[in-house]
Amino acid sequence: MRSPIPDYLQEVLEDCRLADGGAVADYIPDLARANPDRIAIALTTPDGVSYCAGDADVAFSIQSISKPFAYGIALLDSGFDTVLGKIGVEPSGEAFNEISLEVGTGRPRNPMINAGAIATHSLMQGSNADERAERFRERMSLAANRELSFDESVFTSELDTAYRNLAIGYMLRTHGILESDPDDVVRGYIRQCALSVTTRDLSMMAATLANGGVQPVTGRRLSGDRAVRQVLSVMMTCGMYDAAGDWMTAVGIPAKSGVAGGIIGVLPGQVGIAVFSPRLDAHGNSTRGVKLFERLTDDMGLHLMEVPPVGRSVLRGHTMHGDAHLFGLQGSIRFAGAEAVVRQVADADISGDDVIFDVSRVHGVSDVARRMFLEAVRRLTLDDGKRVTLVDPDGIVHNPDAGDGVRPEVIAELAGFRPRS
Ligand code: GLN
Repeated sequence: MRSPIPDYLQEVLEDCRLADGGAVADYIPDLARANPDRIAIALTTPDGVSYCAGDADVAFSIQSISKPFAYGIALLDSGFDTVLGKIGVEPSGEAFNEISLEVGTGRPRNPMINAGAIATHSLMQGSNADERAERFRERMSLAANRELSFDESVFTSELDTAYRNLAIGYMLRTHGILESDPDDVVRGYIRQCALSVTTRDLSMMAATLANGGVQPVTGRRLSGDRAVRQVLSVMMTCGMYDAAGDWMTAVGIPAKSGVAGGIIGVLPGQVGIAVFSPRLDAHGNSTRGVKLFERLTDDMGLHLMEVPPVGRSVLRGHTMHGDAHLFGLQGSIRFAGAEAVVRQVADADISGDDVIFDVSRVHGVSDVARRMFLEAVRRLTLDDGKRVTLVDPDGIVHNPDAGDGVRPEVIAELAGFRPRS
């Protein structure tokens, strides 16, 4: 069978091609030369499969889509305390290049506007612009799983006309947010923005975020869970500048746009998405890019606030296995699923001495779910005098120590169960 996904993407692309409003960015002279008719879309799954349509292999400069990734690198290189001490996490509701800092502290309001991104750049490892930009290029190459390079023409073109970003840099230096030469930091930031990427690359980078910081193809961990959570949170609240509220309601996934026409979106655990088309709307976001995302969300139910109830589906059934009570569990268990299991066990009238939990069809247990489950095991054992057995061939309930000396017996298959009496 031929996969329906590429055909679907092609159809969406053709529909959104019709939206030709907006204009190519021209404040960076080199960007004004972009072909405005280009359009591309790419999806990459957490297991590393990419689906592309349109001009997905055409290169353009990453621009502001570099900001969330640089923020992740700064968190890694300088630590949370230093980064949060210098850059806030509040949406500013202002344009990306607004010259404004928090009253009193002089901190940029968030890392997604230029002021915050220039400060972020200075917190990546490296003693000068070239070293920091190179550090960024190396990390991004790992995320894209391909050696990336800078678009030197975009870089020099933006550097020649960077008066506004220099003004921001000097303000940050005045407030001590930048601790080194603002000319050098702004130069490094502009170089970072000039990294040349394709829509396919960006979807791979977005998928790395969707996959909790692990590159989907190479399996290499590029970022810790906490840093990914932080990056996605600021993307969600600040990634689309003064259109953040519209974006949250209409599309509902963490995203970041760039003035070259790219937009990435990350649906945690499910997919990394990238789109590209150079004409921009009044907020500086790709006109067709926004349309593409709106369409994908409507068709595919991507909105983060649209989540089916998961609790009930975790419990496959409560049956008898001889004289033992058998609870079969399945799927991925998080708080709501663990609550459903604990409630069923608490409400059940359990005769006899043996209780079996079969978790051989469970493929994930969150930390809180594991703790709730083990507490139920502890209570069944100590309060109710039951003997608890776990059918757990893959050790999905990691270290099943329920505390107070209680440890359920773990067996690889139900057939290996021997009743207590
Ligand atoms: N390099 C661009 C700038 O600083 C990035 C802006 C953007 O993509 N929104 O103006």
